[in-house]
Amino acid sequence: MTYANVVVDLSAEAVDRQFSYAVPEGMAVQPGQLVAVPFGPRTLEGFVVSLSEACDLPPEKVKPILRVAREEPVILPDLMELAEWMHTRYLCNLVDALRLMLPAELRGGRVRERTERFVRLNLTGAEADAFIADNPRAKKQIELIRRLRQGDVATAAIAEKSALKALVDKGAATVYESERRRTPHALSGDAPAGDPALLPEQKRAVERLTGALEGGGGRFLLHGVTGSGKTEVYIRLIRRALELGRTAIVLVPEIALTPQMVAWLHGRFGGDAAVLHSALSAGERFDEWRRIRSGEARVVIGARSAVFAPVQNLGVIVVDEEHETTYQSDHRPRYDAREVAWKRAGQHGAVLLLGSATPSITTYMRAMPGVRDENRLELIELRQRANGRPLPEVEIVDMRGEFGRGNHSIFSARLAAELRRCLDDGHQAMLFINRRGHSTFVSCRSCGYVVKCDQCDVSMTWHQAENALRCHYCGKTLPPPQKCPNCASKYIKYFGAGTQKVQEEVRRLFPDARVARMDVDTTREKDAHERILNRFRGGEANVLVGTQMIAKGLDFPNVALVGVVAADLSLNLPDFRSVERTFQLITQVAGRAGRADVPGRVVVQTYEPEHYCIQMAAAQDYRAFYTRESAHRRAALYPPFTVIARIIYSARDRAAAASAAEDAEAKLRDALNGLGADRDVIQLGAMEAPIKLLRGENRFQVLLKLYFKADLEAVAARMQALADAAPEGVRAELEINPNNLF
Ligand code: ADP
Ligand code: ZN
Ligand code: ZN
Repeated sequence: MTYANVVVDLSAEAVDRQFSYAVPEGMAVQPGQLVAVPFGPRTLEGFVVSLSEACDLPPEKVKPILRVAREEPVILPDLMELAEWMHTRYLCNLVDALRLMLPAELRGGRVRERTERFVRLNLTGAEADAFIADNPRAKKQIELIRRLRQGDVATAAIAEKSALKALVDKGAATVYESERRRTPHALSGDAPAGDPALLPEQKRAVERLTGALEGGGGRFLLHGVTGSGKTEVYIRLIRRALELGRTAIVLVPEIALTPQMVAWLHGRFGGDAAVLHSALSAGERFDEWRRIRSGEARVVIGARSAVFAPVQNLGVIVVDEEHETTYQSDHRPRYDAREVAWKRAGQHGAVLLLGSATPSITTYMRAMPGVRDENRLELIELRQRANGRPLPEVEIVDMRGEFGRGNHSIFSARLAAELRRCLDDGHQAMLFINRRGHSTFVSCRSCGYVVKCDQCDVSMTWHQAENALRCHYCGKTLPPPQKCPNCASKYIKYFGAGTQKVQEEVRRLFPDARVARMDVDTTREKDAHERILNRFRGGEANVLVGTQMIAKGLDFPNVALVGVVAADLSLNLPDFRSVERTFQLITQVAGRAGRADVPGRVVVQTYEPEHYCIQMAAAQDYRAFYTRESAHRRAALYPPFTVIARIIYSARDRAAAASAAEDAEAKLRDALNGLGADRDVIQLGAMEAPIKLLRGENRFQVLLKLYFKADLEAVAARMQALADAAPEGVRAELEINPNNLF
């Protein structure tokens, strides 16, 4: 008797284990398959994890598998192994990891291959000629034969059904069914383009990487200044992998924001390329997954979850813009795609290539001397821009001085003058401000009252278009107040600027400018990103105002000016990474200027011109920033030198959330003592979370800071157990080194 160990497709702690089922005589069952099994009174789908010849249960207690839901295994053996690793690493249910590995539509059989009927001609050229000669009056049949000689035709495209029937009856044509693929919009288009000659630095990088690929794999950090041509290095490495019969995965922070990467990879690899991301329709996603699974597509481009693409014989994983926070999932399973990529590359002896102009501190540290081999990345640098020009010149403008000179506009005299010149020269400008909406907050001049969301403890933003205040956390809107709700003063004013205000100011000061805006509000519709970027690329717009959406990877040859309207907006957020993020944003957005023949200029407006982050971003000196920031992290005991873990308790009932956190703190303290980890604790406490109210729920946290050497796995497991045991009515979530600590 053969038994299958099955994980049922239900995400719950209680069923997070493998159940044994008997494989009925004559049923072909393989690991990785989706099967239907009886589960209590119900029938559920489940994943076959493994097969065995023995079973602990008495045979009469073992129920049989009902049927195979899908013939081909949906989880390949290496992905099954990866899921089991994630189960331990991220403390998630095994099924949560498995669900990431196939299109949701595949479960429960909600989407199928789309088939169509086609007609094929069964006649050779001579036979067709003979048919035509013999049946001169069958005009419709002759016409159809002529069409079919050019190639097979879908039955739907044939109007003359009687002629078709006649040909089929005579055996001259056959109708057959074939799968028709839904091609994602982003991938339709041009034929493969040629390769440019590599620059010397690129050539050395490619040689080192292909050498590693041929020699059993390796892990690399490609640190290349903005515009250094990292993409070309990726492409050549992938090309070599394909030549060797291997496959590649390219991860990007967000597909919609990196249309160029998709276009370039598709332009060079044609039908070998597939895209996977959430904006695809269910059918498209399913078909792309199938193309990858069948080996038809060998280069996969996608956001975070594309790291689970079912490619076989993996040769390369590229993580572009590796510093982006989107690589870390902020809901369960809270995996980090860079870490999963590291693991997966290891399984295959593949090359892992992390690329960025501004690597995260954590990643760069791994490329420094003195790191243990199993954690080490080899550093490859590109110091020159591919266009042979220097990096753009960056000027810092002290906005305090502007105010003193009577300039109350959001543009300094310098930025306004540069913008004028840029437009007069027929060039394009990008204006970056990391805040959407019109004004950042509404406050009373008399008493200082700030309008906050009553569901979230955050200030509300005025949106001009709908003339409403909106909460950026929960989406709640309010009409703007006419007088102060606190003191009834009429002097309630709008402060700060967001993208809408910047757009309005450009229009007011430069009536000849054609301004496009890109932020969450203008990109809600499908393909809106692409439309806005195409308007700018085509020159229909000559100024692009945007949030961090415009900071990433974009390559517009005609951009001569980049303006950072408020560089310090993100500098003083209550998070130890706010300085690092601000550095990355300024450096990246500055890097959008001067990428082709037009020289670039950057103006950075700030109230903190002396801050090392602003200074070093202006100098585009990553190494200096790394040295300074990592020394600060080490001294202040922040990651990557320490680990920050927390359990967030949320509840409508404030007292319930508070007591759950306090209770957990005491239990965690005991657990840490029990593990002998108490010596590694730097900080442990229960407290209100920085955002104490979110979507109407009160938030408390147990915050733990540990030295890195601590036995993190055991500690995390204890914390997860505490979170799982949260009282009724209180939600608890464990976060290890989360993206933000709000
Ligand atoms: P990065 O990602 O490093 O910022 P990109 O990959 O976007 O840089 O490349 C910047 C520009 O340089 C692109 O327009 C690209 O087509 C061009 N480029 C890259 N490599 C070469 C090369 N070897 N020869 C000519 N142009 C190149
Ligand atoms: Zn007031
Ligand atoms: Zn809110």
